[in-house]
Amino acid sequence: MSVANRLSINFDRLKSNINAISQIGRSQDHGIYRQAFTENDLQARGWLSQKMEEAGLHIEVDGAANIHGYLGDRSKPSVVVGSHIDSVPAAGPLDGTLGVLTGLECLQRIKEEGLELGYPLELVSFSDEEGRFGGLLGSQSFVGDINPQRIYNSRDLNGVSLVDAMKACGYDAIQALDARRNPRSVKSYLELHIEQGPVLDSLDVPIGVVSHITGLFKWSIRLIGRPDHAGTTPMPMRADALAGLAEFSMEIPRVLEENGTERSVATIGKVDLFPGTANTVPGKVEFSLDCRDTDSKILQDLMDAFRKALSAIARRRDLMFEFDVLSEVDPVACDDSIQAIIRKASESVGCNHHSMPSGAAHDAQIVARIAPVGMIFVPSKAGRSHSSAEWTDWEDIETGANVALQSLLQMAEARI
Ligand SMILES: [Zn+2]
Repeated sequence: MSVANRLSINFDRLKSNINAISQIGRSQDHGIYRQAFTENDLQARGWLSQKMEEAGLHIEVDGAANIHGYLGDRSKPSVVVGSHIDSVPAAGPLDGTLGVLTGLECLQRIKEEGLELGYPLELVSFSDEEGRFGGLLGSQSFVGDINPQRIYNSRDLNGVSLVDAMKACGYDAIQALDARRNPRSVKSYLELHIEQGPVLDSLDVPIGVVSHITGLFKWSIRLIGRPDHAGTTPMPMRADALAGLAEFSMEIPRVLEENGTERSVATIGKVDLFPGTANTVPGKVEFSLDCRDTDSKILQDLMDAFRKALSAIARRRDLMFEFDVLSEVDPVACDDSIQAIIRKASESVGCNHHSMPSGAAHDAQIVARIAPVGMIFVPSKAGRSHSSAEWTDWEDIETGANVALQSLLQMAEARI
C-alpha cells in the first residue's frame, strides 16, 4: 500500500475543531446564529484563520472576504476545496462548516506528511452562502458574477445594507468586484457537505456522490378575486382567491407527473391572504412557488405547465392571475471524472456510495461556471438541517473526511 493510500485524517483533531467552532454563535435555544458579517461570523473567521495558520497554510482574504489557505506551488492552478462557515439563524453545527473543517483537516494532513503534489491545494471559506444578503455572495464574487448594483442594493431583512455590515467587520464591500479569479488559476473544486435530506440516512450509506445540483425557479404569484361579505355573498357569486390557491395546490402533483421527472419537486412555502379577516371572502392571495429539477429543459416545461394550470383556474373561478419571477437558477452537472474519483476514493476507504442529485443550492454550482466541480454528501440524521437537530454520526464524518482526503490526493495528482 502506498503512503497516500494509507494516509488518513486525524479524527480527534477534526472532532475537536467541529466542537470548538460550534460554540461560536451558540444561543440559549441551542441553535447557532452565525449569519454573514455579524459579530459571531467575525469571531468564527478569526478562529478559522488561526487554525489555518497553525496548519501551515498561506492565508489570503479576497475582496469578498472569502478566506483562502494555500498549500503548494502557486504557479500552477489550484485544486480548491471548501464551503462556508456562515449559518442561517437557529442553525445546526454542520452545514457548510463541515466542508470547510474537513478541507482544513485534509490539507493539514497532507502538509504534515510532506507529500509532493502535482498541483497546489487551496482551502476556501466563502462569504454569505446562506443568504443574509442574497446568498452565495462569496462564490459569485469568486467567479466574477457580481456588480456594483448588487453590492450597493443588498440589504438584510432588518434593512441593514451589505456595505454597512461589511464595513462594521472591517471590509470594503465594493472590493468584492476584485475577488474574481482568473478561471485558469482554478484546476477543479471539491465540496463536502451534509446531505440536508433523508436519502443517505434511510439507505444507511455513508457517502453520496453528487451527480447534479438542481436548478430552480421561484415565483411570487397573486390570485385576485373580490373581498365580499362572508355572510351575505352566496357561494356561487364569490370570487374567492383562496379557493383558487387550494385548487392549484392540489394540481401540483399532476403537473409534476405529466411534465416533470421523479426528481421534480414543487413547494408552496409562503401564503398571505388579503384582507385576512374571518368575516370577509379572501379577495387576494399572494403565495410562493419553488420548483426544482436537474434538467433545464424540464424546468422550462414545468414553468409553462404551471402557468397554464394557473390561468385555467383563474378563468374558471373568475380570478385574475399575475406572477413575478423571484429567481431562476440553472441546474449544474458535477464533473464525471471527479465523480469517478470520489467513487474510487470511497472504495479505497472501504465504504458504500450512492449517486444522487443535490436538491439544495451550494457554492459548488457557482464555481462550476469556471471549473469542473465534485461534491461529496454525508448523511443527515433523519434528513434534518437548518435546525439545531442537524447531525451526522461521527463515524460518517470520519468516513466522509477520509473520502475527501483520498479524492483531493487524486485531484492534485499527489506523487507517491
Ligand atoms: Zn451549506
